[in-house]
Amino acid sequence: MALRMSTLFLRTLREDPADAELPGHKLLVRAGYIRRAAPGIYTWLPLGLKVRAKVEAIIREEMDAIGAQEVQFPALLPREPYEASNRWTEYGPNLFRLKDRRDNDMLLGPTHEEMFCLTVKDMYSSYKDLPLSLYQIQNKYRDEARPRAGILRGREFIMKDSYSFDINEAGLQKSYDAHRDAYTKIFNRLGFEYVIVHADAGAMGGSASEEFLAVSDLGEDTFVRDDAGYAANVEAVEVPQAPAVEVTAGPAHVEDTPDTPTIETLVAALNANHPREDGRSWTAADTLKNVLVMLAHPDGTREPLAVGLPGDREVDPKRLETKVAPAEIEPFEESDFKRYPMLAKGYIGPGVLGEEKASGIRYLLDPSVAEGSAWVTGADEHGKHVLDLVYGRDFTADGTVQAAQLREGDLGPNGRALTLARGVEMGHIFQLGTKYAEALGLKVLDENGKLVTVTMGSYGVGVTRAVGMIAEDNLDDIGLVWPREVAPADVHVVATGKDDAVFLKAAEIVNELEAQGLEVLYDDRLKVSPGVKFKDAELIGVPTILVLGKGLADGTVELKDRRSGERRDVPVEGAVTEVL
Ligand code: ATP
Ligand code: MG
Ligand code: MG
Ligand code: MG
Repeated sequence: MALRMSTLFLRTLREDPADAELPGHKLLVRAGYIRRAAPGIYTWLPLGLKVRAKVEAIIREEMDAIGAQEVQFPALLPREPYEASNRWTEYGPNLFRLKDRRDNDMLLGPTHEEMFCLTVKDMYSSYKDLPLSLYQIQNKYRDEARPRAGILRGREFIMKDSYSFDINEAGLQKSYDAHRDAYTKIFNRLGFEYVIVHADAGAMGGSASEEFLAVSDLGEDTFVRDDAGYAANVEAVEVPQAPAVEVTAGPAHVEDTPDTPTIETLVAALNANHPREDGRSWTAADTLKNVLVMLAHPDGTREPLAVGLPGDREVDPKRLETKVAPAEIEPFEESDFKRYPMLAKGYIGPGVLGEEKASGIRYLLDPSVAEGSAWVTGADEHGKHVLDLVYGRDFTADGTVQAAQLREGDLGPNGRALTLARGVEMGHIFQLGTKYAEALGLKVLDENGKLVTVTMGSYGVGVTRAVGMIAEDNLDDIGLVWPREVAPADVHVVATGKDDAVFLKAAEIVNELEAQGLEVLYDDRLKVSPGVKFKDAELIGVPTILVLGKGLADGTVELKDRRSGERRDVPVEGAVTEVL
């Protein structure tokens, strides 16, 4: 049934909404596709739902084509599975947490690896049940720090998430490849110019996780590529052997710091001034964290200070006469030591604790800053330090090298010059391996009757983000310009004037178009001027606009192509064929 403008739940706006920054977002609100309910939370109106349904249909077709089966999990979830995978903690403030009336912890699902894993565990027990791929198209919840650009980064959004279950690595590789192919088809059909980039640094073969980025200056991700087909999210770039990145200009730089104590000096001072309670001596390996903690809290407070700084903030080993009680000192664990290989070199982290002072110590010592970067190569010896290294600008929490550090023309891992561009993450595919299956005990019997842990993959597409991104990519000064595959209708029929004959003919054409399998938006409003109707049609952005008015007396209607603006009169009898 045609959508009729006379009754459609729609109110187009002439003014841009105050809280929208990006052009596509403004138009989606003005043209009556979505409305903001709260920051990062949107209501979908009839036109919006039409577009969304088309995007979902494309995704469903491609998922079904690789044999994935659709299911629907709840969004409201118990804490325990996420506790078992450690994500209740790992997710931090991004997770929406709530309590039920019995005081049980609950959450709104940000992604569903745990729940899929548990359900497969409940239902399946044999290798004969595998391989299996399941998917859902469902609301996700993430309390994003910066909800942005309307539906591009929502706090409630729709994701198509799938999960694959295989008996071994080879099976996983097959499921992963099938998803990768399906995603290629999906993003082609959605009309994106996109790149597939490595999303992981150094993971074996570099294919354990890949992102589909729509190339766009609006993007929050920066990626690099070379002319031999290598492409990676900058977060994933392994900085090639130093000194590919020279820190010559800019605030961060390497400086001679001859008087800085080595970690050995500090450890010696620690042993002298602060012997361990168990009688053993502190060593570099098992004391570093303590040294750092103590330096960070020289007066026993929790207010962190800069660590290992030269010059006027130089570390004085005497500071190790600290008031921190031994009980408060966290022991330095083997895993920490592995994590901070630079410590093994007897080297205290460089620089200044940036804006994130409280966490600065940890970030300061990140291995990816330590290895391979010019900063560290330059400073990786006693008497040299990097100064003014700033968290966020120069490196981040997960140890990723920032775009600020990589420049156009730097050599990539293949020794070729990199170009930088920005993109919006539309999809992400992961080879999870046995991480979740192990945490949640998903095992099946193999051919020999032996229990083996199932190998998983997970794969996500941002459905509502895709709608937002298509809007950003397809617009002009006067409105949206939908590609036909996802337009809310194929044809927008506009009846103008007051002549009954025009409306009768229009209704007839609408029926014919529908009989031909086309979807129609019909502007049948009686008391609305042609000017307003044309403006609305341009704003809404259906690809083909068919206008009936005065020309009907001469047997013609006007056919407009929304994208090119081209308009021509065609005989009313042939109008339907012209549209097809
Ligand atoms: P981003 O880097 O943009 O925060 P992500 O890496 O956190 O995304 P994934 O966990 O990989 O996202 O989720 C799979 C897909 O879900 C993403 O590729 C993206 O298309 C979509 N998505 C993620 N977060 C949001 C959001 N807040 N709003 C809309 N879509 C989102
Ligand atoms: Mg995210
Ligand atoms: Mg991401
Ligand atoms: Mg991702």
